[in-house]
Amino acid sequence: MGIAEGKRALVVGVANDKSLAWFIARELSAQGAAVALTYQGEVLERRVRPLAEEIGATVVGQLDVSDDDQIAATFDKIAQTWDGLDMLVHAVAFAEREDLRDRFLEVNRRGFARALEISAYSLVALARAAEPLMEKRGGGSIVTLSYLGAVRAVPNYNVMGVAKAALEACVRYLALDLGPKAIRVNALSAGPARTLSSSAIRDFYTMAHEVEARSPLKRAMKPEEAAKMAVALLSDLSSGVTGQTVYVDAGYSIAGL
Ligand code: NAD
Repeated sequence: MGIAEGKRALVVGVANDKSLAWFIARELSAQGAAVALTYQGEVLERRVRPLAEEIGATVVGQLDVSDDDQIAATFDKIAQTWDGLDMLVHAVAFAEREDLRDRFLEVNRRGFARALEISAYSLVALARAAEPLMEKRGGGSIVTLSYLGAVRAVPNYNVMGVAKAALEACVRYLALDLGPKAIRVNALSAGPARTLSSSAIRDFYTMAHEVEARSPLKRAMKPEEAAKMAVALLSDLSSGVTGQTVYVDAGYSIAGL
């Protein structure tokens, strides 16, 4: 029997078959969860629908996390489909391409606000919408995806690092608010992985090779490894863990050199 048997999971952030959210959705399904997916817009819908079919997931519909009406509609649909929600995956981030190169110093007010709204505030908005559905199930677990740039200055990660720092702080405050309702909130800080989002970061692949060479495990993190830890954090295996940022990075973050 899988560790997510009988659970209902909403996964936000699948863009294609390279998305970390896709690896998590697949692992959740393999571990017995009923999975629901959203897609950001019509262009991505064409990619997400066949993936959903592959794991028998429900496609809830379009969800742009900057649109409160779409958030409300998504959770209304979940409430109509299931008698509550056990697990929520937030794997969403955005920054203007020009803010992921050159100097952080140059970021303008709009780019800064947008990166923080989409990449950090959206977790708060989704958690708030999920709360009553998780309460119905007697509790739940929320996982978001972060990166080392939250706590270290990583060249070119720039405003996204600031957004991830805010995201990790949001995780702690949400954990405090939702803990009394047995809802846990954690971040998984993943090592570099080749995805649509990471391709926007200047010199990402050079940096990823450097990380591989310096990691204690002397290799890259595999997306499947991030997915397995995400499912552990979402499941009862981690019932005493909340408000944490857990690193799945082949050990890179502990290395001195
Ligand atoms: P991805 O491009 O596959 O996923 C990013 C997702 O964010 C996409 O599905 C996109 O549609 C969604 N998104 C962006 N703006 C949105 C909006 N307004 N509304 C709804 N959805 C929106 O890339 P990924 O690397 O799998 O990213 C998933 C998460 O993992 C992100 O939070 C990213 O920062 C994080 N992460 C990635 C890496 C990496 O190296 N790839 C490392 C650590 C953390």
